[in-house]
Amino acid sequence: YTPGGPKVREEKILVTVRIRPLSRREQAMYDLIAWDWMDDHTIIYKNPNHERAATTFTFDKVFGLSCSSQKVYEEGAKDVALSALTGINATIFAYGQTSSGKTYTMKGITENAVKDIFEHIRNRPERDFVLSLSALEIYNETVVDLLNRESGSLRLLDDPEKGTIVEKLVEEVVKDGRHLLHLIDICEAQRQVGETALNDKSSRSHQIIRLTIKSSLRESSGRVKSFIASLNLVDLAGSERASQTNADGVRLKEGSHINRSLLTLTTVIRKLSGGKRSGHIPYRDSKLTRILQSSLGGNARTAIICTMSPALSHVEQTRNTLLFATSAK
Ligand code: ADP
Ligand code: MG
Repeated sequence: YTPGGPKVREEKILVTVRIRPLSRREQAMYDLIAWDWMDDHTIIYKNPNHERAATTFTFDKVFGLSCSSQKVYEEGAKDVALSALTGINATIFAYGQTSSGKTYTMKGITENAVKDIFEHIRNRPERDFVLSLSALEIYNETVVDLLNRESGSLRLLDDPEKGTIVEKLVEEVVKDGRHLLHLIDICEAQRQVGETALNDKSSRSHQIIRLTIKSSLRESSGRVKSFIASLNLVDLAGSERASQTNADGVRLKEGSHINRSLLTLTTVIRKLSGGKRSGHIPYRDSKLTRILQSSLGGNARTAIICTMSPALSHVEQTRNTLLFATSAK
């Protein structure tokens, strides 16, 4: 392993799509599967008379209904996750409308990544690794510590060296994979505090699990080389919160529908994937993008897994998701 140097990587964002099975509810409603997917790369809207221009979408990878979480991890997230072990900041997102499978997918990725990371550490006894976990939720642009909810709304501060930091955020040192997954379970339970079916908070809030990896190696000369990097595992608010327009392209009047952090994130991702010439990147416009700034773009690596229901009843939102995924490539 070589620590990530200052060189700027021009790697594109890894964008994949995962299609979940029809839910029981969708089946009970005799909902239909509106999409075809083939060759692991292409998704096609089935209705040939559909008037929309874009009905065929192509991605780095498309995971079909029966695809295991392990395969989604290996082909959609692994390289990005493991780069944090080499000193490169990494971010993995699930993006999609509410009930499309974001939480399910991030859980699978987190479990597999934790296993993989500890296995790599065991195979590198010559290096010292110290891992720590922090976890937060952003809800209505308010940041809350999922490991210490009592601390209330947390402020973001600008540190000249570290960039944006979250004041008072608890960072818990983790002993092993089991300990880490246990802490993540606690965060997940914390996230559900105050949630009811009516006030469906998980569709509006973002959760960031941040694993910080410090590593050092004593060389034969006695010199110690060390680095620090973070892996951010992000379960986003439902993508319907980013749509500025409804199905007919009419701007929605209800401002509260729009999620500032999600909208800013989509703009940042589009600009990053647009290459160098896209100019100013508005990281500072939302809490989510400020917190993730050092792990998005520049030297950092990013994977986005877009999740979708195959159901006909969700075609409009799914199309929005696939358009976002296309713009992120
Ligand atoms: P979201 O977080 O996007 O709102 P969830 O992850 O909660 O959606 O998924 C909605 C439901 O669908 C859950 O009951 C979940 O277990 C199920 N589900 C999601 N993705 C899959 C999948 N790939 N295979 C099987 N069940 C899934
Ligand atoms: Mg969810």
